[in-house]
Amino acid sequence: MSIDFKSRAVAGVRGLQPYQPGKPIDEVARELGLDPSQIIKLASNENPLGPSSKALEAARKALDEMCLYPDGNGFNLKQKLAARLSVSPAQLTLGNGSNDVLDLVIRAFADAGDEVIFSQYAFAVYPISTMAVGATGVSVPAKEWGHDLDAMAAAINDRTRIVFVANPNNPTGTAVGRDAIVQFLRKVPEHVVVVLDEAYCEYFEGDEFPDGIDLLPDFPNLVVARTFSKAWGLAALRVGYAVSSAAIADVLNRVRQPFNVDTIALAAATAVLDDEDYLQRSREVNRSGLRQLAAGFEALGLEYIPSSGNFIAVDVGERADQVFQGLLQRGVIVRPIGGYGMPRHLRISVGLEAENARCLDALKEVLESLNG
Ligand SMILES: *Cc1c(COP(=O)(O)O)cnc(C)c1O
Repeated sequence: MSIDFKSRAVAGVRGLQPYQPGKPIDEVARELGLDPSQIIKLASNENPLGPSSKALEAARKALDEMCLYPDGNGFNLKQKLAARLSVSPAQLTLGNGSNDVLDLVIRAFADAGDEVIFSQYAFAVYPISTMAVGATGVSVPAKEWGHDLDAMAAAINDRTRIVFVANPNNPTGTAVGRDAIVQFLRKVPEHVVVVLDEAYCEYFEGDEFPDGIDLLPDFPNLVVARTFSKAWGLAALRVGYAVSSAAIADVLNRVRQPFNVDTIALAAATAVLDDEDYLQRSREVNRSGLRQLAAGFEALGLEYIPSSGNFIAVDVGERADQVFQGLLQRGVIVRPIGGYGMPRHLRISVGLEAENARCLDALKEVLESLNG
């Protein structure tokens, strides 16, 4: 008789649904018999520029050391980051992607019976990691697709350990301004950890948006999570980090696996910080791509959620799943977000100009074929 290992898993894990990633190009090619070189992926908010040449060169060099364990403290990367962000290296926690950092915060501060607050439509990793430790996720209804910070503050009680605020949020692209964040932080009791997930902060335009790191001196319970996966173009290598008070960083670094960021990732991330030109190009391509997509949606009569990230959620109507499939058949991978409770929307990552144009053309064709 075979053992039912699912029933033997700890309570939180039994209820988990695995994270649904964007479909990889090779998988779509296999399933639909398409040429992989003709497929474009606008499904995972990756950087359309390809990697920085400085990062690539450093990564190639680092391959020579692959038989050695990585520097478990990430000395060089921490020095570089600390100088860039004007913080002390003791305030940094490196992660295997910022997903790792988000998970570390939950494992360090939330236990069975505790509550973790996040917004409706917020990033899927928060509820997954929360459930895995047996804590209770509290999803606070969104306001116009974005975080309702007043309602989130009001949801805090004696059981609350952590509040997650994604700014900008994925998959909606909504963002809250600096004043709103500061007002919110003032309301949060000082023993409750607030995670400001700034995975897309490099794309912020205008100065009304907060730089979470500026707020750290006033709020010792704040953890700012950032990543090299988006604007810095290193998604495959898995490097992210938290900036916090040294006291919180000390806790997070105890939970962390000793070698959670590998040598190649450390080298590439350290090198890419010198590639200011790459970051600027990332921002420019994103700025013009957002405008191009928004104009295209308007021309098609589609409503979209104005985005501060490198993606846009667009309302394609009740048959979003058929639109998604139609785009796939035309070699365009986007992301359905029904799993986020947004069954009418597709999330489309900003690509290069030609990719955005191809996506919009395909979208037009699919909508015409469904309506005609
Ligand atoms: C992409 C993303 C992250 C970062 O993912 P990593 O690749 O693990 O660094 C974190 N938070 C949000 C909201 C994201 O969309």
